[in-house]
Amino acid sequence: MTVQNQLFINGEFVDAIDGGRIDVLNPHDNSLITSIAEARQNDIDRAVAAAQAAFPAWSRMQAAERGHLLMKLADAIEANIDELVEIESRDTGHPVRDCRNLDVPRTAFTFRYFGGMADKVQGSEIPVEPGFLNYVKREPLGVVGQVVPWNFPLMFTSWKMGPALAAGNTVVLKPAELTPLSTLKIAELMAQVGFPPGVVNIVPGYGHTAGQYLAEHPQVAKIAFTGSTDVGRKIVGASAGNLKRVQLELGGKGANIVFDDANIKAAVGGSAFAIFHNQGQACIAGSRLILQESIADEFLDGFLTLAQSIRLGDPSDPSTEMGPLTSKQHQQRVLNYCDIARQEGGEILLGGKVPDDVALSGGCYVEPTVVRAQSSDRVCQEEVFGPFVAVTTFKDEEEALAIANGTQYGLGGGLWTQNLSRAHRFADQMRNGMVWVNCYKRVNPGSPFGGVGSSGYGREMGFEAMHDYTEAKSVWINVDAQIPPFYPR
Ligand code: NAD
Repeated sequence: MTVQNQLFINGEFVDAIDGGRIDVLNPHDNSLITSIAEARQNDIDRAVAAAQAAFPAWSRMQAAERGHLLMKLADAIEANIDELVEIESRDTGHPVRDCRNLDVPRTAFTFRYFGGMADKVQGSEIPVEPGFLNYVKREPLGVVGQVVPWNFPLMFTSWKMGPALAAGNTVVLKPAELTPLSTLKIAELMAQVGFPPGVVNIVPGYGHTAGQYLAEHPQVAKIAFTGSTDVGRKIVGASAGNLKRVQLELGGKGANIVFDDANIKAAVGGSAFAIFHNQGQACIAGSRLILQESIADEFLDGFLTLAQSIRLGDPSDPSTEMGPLTSKQHQQRVLNYCDIARQEGGEILLGGKVPDDVALSGGCYVEPTVVRAQSSDRVCQEEVFGPFVAVTTFKDEEEALAIANGTQYGLGGGLWTQNLSRAHRFADQMRNGMVWVNCYKRVNPGSPFGGVGSSGYGREMGFEAMHDYTEAKSVWINVDAQIPPFYPR
């Protein structure tokens, strides 16, 4: 496995001007993978200047040609799947099984989707007064800044860059300091398939320096951010200088409701995927399991048995189903929430600790954890972002809805029921950007993704994202209208 460890600016891999470096560790054993160049303000300035210089030609390029380049990138991702699987797994701790079946194919799928979308964004013609033609163009914004987190670094390259590039913007993207390697590999593939220099610039660096400066930058027209709600608030503040557009995909506390008429076997399997996939490090994780009292014991029997059987271990082993958390610091954060649960009087039904297996003791592992709690407890209100699910119960629909809507967040949530009317009632009344019925965590590049409340605003994916990466321009033509003079003389 060879990894890029420099910044990618104006089509070239370059060192940081100040020569700073950041160590990148493998969370399986905290061994050093590489040390990467650290972008600071002057590197961000270089990257933004390169993106600005590339913008006129890129935005005027025939849209289908931009799309063709994105499709070539998708092909290159598929052709390099083995290397991308290894890079992503070692850098993030995702099991290779997941990288091969989800992260890499879905990244290619999303770039290909937006490749196809490039020439589908159309303006409109407005029926105004006779004699005038009024049409609305959708124009790209300019240089777009993007700041992404460490939980799905490879997939987020396609979620963020796909629509921005298809719409004709140029990009400066800051990956998380913990997990920059797959993003740098994507930059390498972009150069190989022929993206012009400057169209995409990748600047790994710390959030409070490089990320903050990118969000403040006066030449950046939009900042798109995925990460914590606290940093989301800082991004909004940083954007005020030039009133740049902001799109925020922040935290969540997904309500996963199981009614007594649900197919329990399907609900058990779907609920385990909802929380334990990617070690629970997903903003849309089903981190609150809300069970109807009458089936709670039966459901929990099946759920705990399944959770206990999940194969936790070295992510490079193809049979591993759950790997480590992304960093020591994050492992400690999740373990702290296990302590908070105990202090709040929660009952730990499973896990709540690091695994006993000595082979995993050098890594950032936490066992699948199931806690019985009260809906007002911190573990039911705050985002843990780990393999940690809080279980509460309810008597009727009204109580279920009150619990589901009872946090500051509103990203994804779902319910398991055979009752069609109830499914639609909840789809209407859950205060979320996404609702899943008899499934969980479904995502598709055509379907809008994002939240309400403290989960942020703006949408990724689909036409919604393409519109968010363009500005409407209204053009008026006097075709043959006779306009009486406003100041008759
Ligand atoms: P974070 O929000 O601090 O980091 C996410 C990204 O933002 C990283 O690239 C980071 O470098 C950057 N960043 C940090 N401070 C910044 C600033 N002032 N200006 C601009 N960019 C900045 O997240 P974290 O500390 O890595 O994780 C903390 C918690 O955030 C997690 O435990 C989880 O609850 C939540 N989180 C949510 C998501 C999500 O997908 N919504 C992803 C990661 C983390």
